[in-house]
Amino acid sequence: PVVTRFAPSPTGFLHIGGARTALFNWLYAKKLGGKMLLRIEDTDRERSTQAAIDAILDGLKWLELDWDGDVVYQFSNAARHREVVEQMLERGTAYRCYASAEELTQMREAARAEGRTRFYNGLWRDRDPSEAPAGVKPTIRLKAPLTGETVIEDQVQGRVVWQNDNLDDLVLLRSDGTPTYMLAVVVDDHDMGVTHVIRGDDHLINAARQKQIYDALGWEIPVMAHIPLIHGPDGSKLSKRHGALGVDAYRSMGYLPVALRNYLVRLGWGHGDQEIFSTDEMIAAFDLPAIGRSAARFDFAKLENLNGHYIRHSNDQTLLDSLENLLRYIPNGAQIAAKIDDNKRAQLLRAMPGLKERAKTLLELIDGASFILAERPLTIEPKARALLTPETRQLIGRLHGALQAVEAWSGESTEAAMRGFAETNGLKLGAVAQPLRVALTGRTTSPGIFDVLAVLGREECLARLADQTS
Ligand code: GLU
Repeated sequence: PVVTRFAPSPTGFLHIGGARTALFNWLYAKKLGGKMLLRIEDTDRERSTQAAIDAILDGLKWLELDWDGDVVYQFSNAARHREVVEQMLERGTAYRCYASAEELTQMREAARAEGRTRFYNGLWRDRDPSEAPAGVKPTIRLKAPLTGETVIEDQVQGRVVWQNDNLDDLVLLRSDGTPTYMLAVVVDDHDMGVTHVIRGDDHLINAARQKQIYDALGWEIPVMAHIPLIHGPDGSKLSKRHGALGVDAYRSMGYLPVALRNYLVRLGWGHGDQEIFSTDEMIAAFDLPAIGRSAARFDFAKLENLNGHYIRHSNDQTLLDSLENLLRYIPNGAQIAAKIDDNKRAQLLRAMPGLKERAKTLLELIDGASFILAERPLTIEPKARALLTPETRQLIGRLHGALQAVEAWSGESTEAAMRGFAETNGLKLGAVAQPLRVALTGRTTSPGIFDVLAVLGREECLARLADQTS
């Protein structure tokens, strides 16, 4: 059975590239009826933080990328990592290196001068440990092959070959006994039964080093798939402005998880010209060899369009739930969310078919709904306030009377009442509609005035009109 894993380092938030890596691992596991495991690579104790761990778990949950089993914390496996290195020492596939910092610097300088990539000169490689200087704690190095090649058959990159004389005897255990990333990944992937490693191609060179560790241990290396990184729209390294943000930022901007997943799956992977994928379609169509080798380019406009698509096609109640959840998530949104009672929910649901046609993000949806979310007495925007003169206030008072007479409240019945009112008073409909809009929404622009009347309902409309009547 297929076992994939997502293995983030909790040194920063779950960024968009990490989210795509998680998605690809998730899709591949789902496609093949396997499992996706989650391993937090927290061996860097200085840089790992609980806040980052929380952000990673939150981000994955929000994106609905569930993992199988318990979260594995790499640091808790440190004893096992040391045990494996002990075995390697016994078998002679690793050795204790007592080289001092100065000696290592000299080796590096000599290698640079001679244009060699491999710097370690074998100082302690075959030396008898009895020669060890007293009181020095050694690092443990891999006795890497000096000749031949290391080959990775990568599902995305194809066959990648390294000359062994370019690869160093890498450190497995530091002198303080802590395992290096390179060792920990190999041991954990092996112990967790990982069959497929899908990750960013910035790790490709690590695959070669890890292959040497697998070989030294006599373990089989998992299938490798190194996916190209995400670049900015201009092909440069992804910057903040271009979307190199945490998943939490996309959430705050009002993107739907389903839209972000759909956007991310198309970054570097394709299936003909298809742009829109349901989750089931994605799972069925996804495959590793279809991932391209060149960097994907991030495109905010595409993401927005996809999000708009998913908003338009969302069920109204689901959108309302998402809107309330987002308000509770963003700064200053909680107070607004707390004021949403069943009456406001009913208004929001009535407005939703119109609102969702115009919104590309949930923030735009919230903005469109602000005339509903607003509380009495309304805050009137400055531009709108200018329209509230003694005359128009008086007009609003008379309109209040006319609308009060409407019993069966709807867009149609209120429209008929307003037209009747305008006609009786010798006014154009617009001359009536604009002060009405200001009184009902506090703004000079809003959805169609009859929609506003229908959405807010009789009681709320009459109360808002009364508030602005002099
Ligand atoms: N912890 C590594 C990272 O966050 C990933 C290691 C791996 O996938 O093998 O970049």
